[in-house]
Amino acid sequence: MASGGYRNGTSKASLKLDRSLSSSSSIKSAIKSKPNLVSTTSGLRRSSPGSLNGTAAAAKDDAGVPGRVRVAVRLRPRNAEELVADADFADCVELQPELKRLKLRKNNWDSDTYEFDEVLTEFASQKRVYEVVAKPVVESVLEGYNGTVMAYGQTGTGKTFTLGRLGEEDTAARGIMVRSMEDILADVSPDTDSVSVSYLQLYMETIQDLLDPTNDNISIVEDPKTGDVSLPGATVVGIRDQQSFLELLRIGEAHRFAANTKLNTESSRSHAILMVHVRRSVKGGELEVSLSTENGNGSHLIKPLRPPIVRRSKLVVVDLAGSERIDKSGSEGHTLEEAKSINLSLSALGKCINALAENSPHVPVRDSKLTRLLRDSFGGTARTSLVVTIGPSPRHRGETASTIMFGQRAMKVENMVKLKEEFDYKSLARRLDIQLDKIIAEHERQQKIFEDEVEKMRVESENRISEAERNYSHALENERLKYQKDYMESIKKLEEQWILNQQKHGNDRTRAEPKDECLDKMCSTEAAGNAEILKLRKMLEDEACQKEKLEEEITILRSQLLQLSFQADETRRSLDKGDPARVFTGLDSLMNQVRHLQLKDSGNGQKVSIAKLFEQVGLQKILSLLESEDADVRIHAVKVVANLAAEEANQEKIVEAGGLTSLLMLLRSTEDETIRRVAAGAIANLAMNETNQELIMAQGGISLLSTTAADAEDPQTLRMVAGAIANLCGNDKLQMKLRGEGGIQALLGMVRCGHPDVLAQVARGIANFAKCESRASSQGTKVGKSLLIDDGALPWIVQNANNEASPIRRHIELALCHLAQQEMNARDMISGGALWELVRISRDCSREDIRTLALRTLNSSPTFQTELRRLRIEC
Ligand code: ADP
Ligand code: MG
Repeated sequence: MASGGYRNGTSKASLKLDRSLSSSSSIKSAIKSKPNLVSTTSGLRRSSPGSLNGTAAAAKDDAGVPGRVRVAVRLRPRNAEELVADADFADCVELQPELKRLKLRKNNWDSDTYEFDEVLTEFASQKRVYEVVAKPVVESVLEGYNGTVMAYGQTGTGKTFTLGRLGEEDTAARGIMVRSMEDILADVSPDTDSVSVSYLQLYMETIQDLLDPTNDNISIVEDPKTGDVSLPGATVVGIRDQQSFLELLRIGEAHRFAANTKLNTESSRSHAILMVHVRRSVKGGELEVSLSTENGNGSHLIKPLRPPIVRRSKLVVVDLAGSERIDKSGSEGHTLEEAKSINLSLSALGKCINALAENSPHVPVRDSKLTRLLRDSFGGTARTSLVVTIGPSPRHRGETASTIMFGQRAMKVENMVKLKEEFDYKSLARRLDIQLDKIIAEHERQQKIFEDEVEKMRVESENRISEAERNYSHALENERLKYQKDYMESIKKLEEQWILNQQKHGNDRTRAEPKDECLDKMCSTEAAGNAEILKLRKMLEDEACQKEKLEEEITILRSQLLQLSFQADETRRSLDKGDPARVFTGLDSLMNQVRHLQLKDSGNGQKVSIAKLFEQVGLQKILSLLESEDADVRIHAVKVVANLAAEEANQEKIVEAGGLTSLLMLLRSTEDETIRRVAAGAIANLAMNETNQELIMAQGGISLLSTTAADAEDPQTLRMVAGAIANLCGNDKLQMKLRGEGGIQALLGMVRCGHPDVLAQVARGIANFAKCESRASSQGTKVGKSLLIDDGALPWIVQNANNEASPIRRHIELALCHLAQQEMNARDMISGGALWELVRISRDCSREDIRTLALRTLNSSPTFQTELRRLRIEC
């Protein structure tokens, strides 16, 4: 049965398992014979590391690779006692290592043969035992599988010799524990891997910590999901070198001895368990996160995350308690209950192995702490190697047989070895944290740069703004100082002038002072001259007056003559028609008139005469003479009409009779200067009436007057024309039309003549216009600045504001006040210098009403007020 079991045991599954047991000579041949199986499994192994799918598959889909528990048998040489006691007897076993067979003698002629995975004779070295039993497991552990090496056998057969010898004096004597650690430490990389150790004793179902004796009741924790067991309470010591490990083993051994003394037992009654935890990082499962913030594209490139893979495997080395039956009589000083408890774990292990060997549906793993601890070693995922130790003595044949049977059953236990690798999420999280920190730091750096840049730009622009402001205020201040200086100089000059004048007047008054005699003389000479001039001017004016009177008289006479000749014509026509009576009457009448007029003195009675003439002769007749072909007649006629028009009472009649139209036509058609002058005078007189003003405008009067104004040279003609336009300027309704047809321009054009009479009329026109505008502005019917300013009147106004001729000055002063009353003009007035004139007027004007008006105007304009404040001038 046993041999049959063995044969079954060396099944396909066992070949598969031993891809890692390559160092085992016995398996080498198997590898050679089934290379395809080896490559399959190693192919699986290669694909696992770093491959998510491979790992997931290994963990989820694949329950592992079948791996039978490997069992070797080791025979202890006869000890001194046996050499003596059994001297006459043959060993109870006969080994055939090359056949991996063991023969257990039943008696001298019969024996049972058992096959093992390895048969180690009493001459097998510790090194060879390690290599055969443990090394494949150790290699497996280094590759990421759990591994178990366990020694089972009767007390004194060499379990501790095989597993636990430290070999301090003789290195060849080193046992499996020491050699395993040597291989592990040689293989792991201290940078990426770690090795740690726990060392425990299980006695009477109590787990004691051999590295910390106070820790004498460690509980087993099982992961409900994976079924993995762990001992969280056990001391775990990291191992970096062999020396420290040996030290630990020594400490453990000492503690074991002390504990057993305390418990009054022997180490053979307890199980010693060494746990070596190997944690290895698998290369290739690197997380790749790259930052590319400064390469221009500005994107953070994170390649697909591949968490690092870590393999956590565990090598468990178990030095079991002696397998011999405990004397139930309690001869060793134990009670029956104690004896039961001592044996519990071992017998539970036997039961589990039996159940597993027989593929029983129930494996009583939970029956003991040992079986719970070793659940992964038998029927689990670990690679397990068992060495059963036997002695040669036929006296212990029973125990030996039982040990062999244990080994045989264990050989049937099939594990499913599984790679203990997993994604190292903690490490991934750590790395991600680091990457995140880097990204955050980079971001902060960029943010800082950005903020610095913005701050720099802000500071720069603020500097620029304040510099511009500084420059502006400097320029402003300079300008202000300049104006102030100019102003002060002007004031100073005026004051000097005033002082001079004062002095001059003072000198005039104090002629008696000898030092001023010369000056006095000069002054008296000048005064005498002036008096002479005045006298002459007076004479001249009288002469001119006389002349004018004479001329007017002549005019009247000529008119009368015209009238007479007209009547003569009439009479002649009547005579021709045969109406002597009428002819006579008319002629007589005319003669009488002439005679009558001739008798009159030509002085004061002139107007009366003309009025009479007007009544007697008839307006129509006089007007018709304006169109006479005779130039003299025309001249006389226009003079008569002009004289008539001077009387307000006649104006309406003249206009009704078409006199205005005739006058305008005459102005248009004539080139005679006199006619033009007189006609313009007549029109000017008629233009005093509002209705007539509209008529004049309607009949194109303004363009006629403008043309006349442009052509005429005679100051009197210009005076008339200017007077006519000035009258029109005073009509509120005609402002736009007047300006549109060039009225203002015509007015301004006439100042070329320079005659004070003309200028006075121009100034009057401007004042009238400004007054109308001011009125319209205050009524809200006019917006925008003055048309006078638009037409360029301001410079002339300012220039003549202080004209010595008072008619001019008065009109201009009024014009300035009217202009100033329109706020829209203020800016232009300031820039044009009109403000100064207004200030002057408000202070110096001899007419109080104008002075007050100017002052009021200045005070009511916010713009002027601001400017005055700026110039620090008080009004
Ligand atoms: P166990 O641990 O199984 O009780 P030990 O390892 O303590 O047995 O061995 C008992 C004795 O036998 C020890 O003195 C040990 O040195 C010796 N011994 C065991 N196996 C061998 C061996 N293969 N060669 C030489 N001496 C051995
Ligand atoms: Mg022992």
